Amino acid sequence: MNTMPKCNCHICKSSDVTMMEVYKEFSRVTSDCKPWKNSGCLVVCNQCHAVQKCVDETFLKEVEEIYGDYDAYYQSGGKEQVVFNEGNQAVKVRSLSILEAVEKKISMAANGRFLDIGCANGNMLETVSMVFPGWELFGFDLDEKNKVSIESIKNVKHYYSRKISHIKGTYDFISMVHVLEHIPDPENYLAKVRKLLCPEGRLIIELPNIMENPFDLLIADHCTHFTEERIVGLLKRAGFKVVFSDSKSIPKELTLVAKFCDTESVGEEIVQGKNILTYINQCMNWLKDIKNKMERIGKNGDIGIFGAGIASAWLISEFKEMIAFCVDEDKDKVGRIYCGIPVLHPENVYEKTVFVPMPFQGSKKIADRLSGQNGCRYIGTSNPGDINLD
Ligand SMILES: [Zn+2]
Repeated sequence: MNTMPKCNCHICKSSDVTMMEVYKEFSRVTSDCKPWKNSGCLVVCNQCHAVQKCVDETFLKEVEEIYGDYDAYYQSGGKEQVVFNEGNQAVKVRSLSILEAVEKKISMAANGRFLDIGCANGNMLETVSMVFPGWELFGFDLDEKNKVSIESIKNVKHYYSRKISHIKGTYDFISMVHVLEHIPDPENYLAKVRKLLCPEGRLIIELPNIMENPFDLLIADHCTHFTEERIVGLLKRAGFKVVFSDSKSIPKELTLVAKFCDTESVGEEIVQGKNILTYINQCMNWLKDIKNKMERIGKNGDIGIFGAGIASAWLISEFKEMIAFCVDEDKDKVGRIYCGIPVLHPENVYEKTVFVPMPFQGSKKIADRLSGQNGCRYIGTSNPGDINLD
């Protein structure tokens, strides 16, 4: 009997997909940074090159369970994620960095109607209310647990919940910050969002960038792992034209602004033939290599992990016995318990080994900068492309 789950691409609907078999062996993490079980299903579409989870009954059931107990930003006590610069210093909150990146390219009018889809604790709405005080604000999310606090933000006129079809009116700006990667049928969803946009309106989309952060593959409830090319193509299919796309302003993320497409080109899409499959294979090998490295350096236990985020939650679920503490430079995280272990500042760690699970140059920079401090040894990772394919 063939037990391979059947999986069609949830963007182009093709059944020509490649299953990443090794993925099932990895523990996973939820997007609110909690360890999650293994046996996930990751595929790459050979037609449109979308990297995605197989959206089957198991996936939908798991996602329901994850969102039933969701806790945005719990690792920093409810505070919004901060953006770090090259020297790993906290610069500003993410929503402000996004708005600044957008404002560099587009001049915002003095007033208008702004809708944040997936507004969670209201971080984006709070920032808009400070930076653009003339705007009327609206929020939408699936449940009502933050309704009262969102409606208390200055200039918030209404909070919508449950279904996107409940949202009334049209908007000059709509933001979707870390929303689209969670949506099982993103094209259809974007078509609904399009109906909420004024003819001259703009849509802001913020997503994890899979080309800069392979750990995103381990997030159980992210159903699409976008490249810049893939989101641009998807927006075009849904009737949008990209005004600008930026992969630099927020590290490891993509910021895009889109507007209505000319009607004659709606639905057309040019997909570049870049081989994303090779890259995803490299990522699988790189993640395996990180596990092997952890097994070697952590065999005597009592080691630390740098960062209290997705990568650390993953390694803690894979190697709970070995890891005694996390190390982080974000003052909102230091002093907390993360996935059952304490988060310490590098200044308070003495003569320990600390593994720095980060992609690309970030890991080496941090390992080089902190090694030797208080007699500690910080060990970095290699780059995904440096790992040989099987
Ligand atoms: Zn596809």
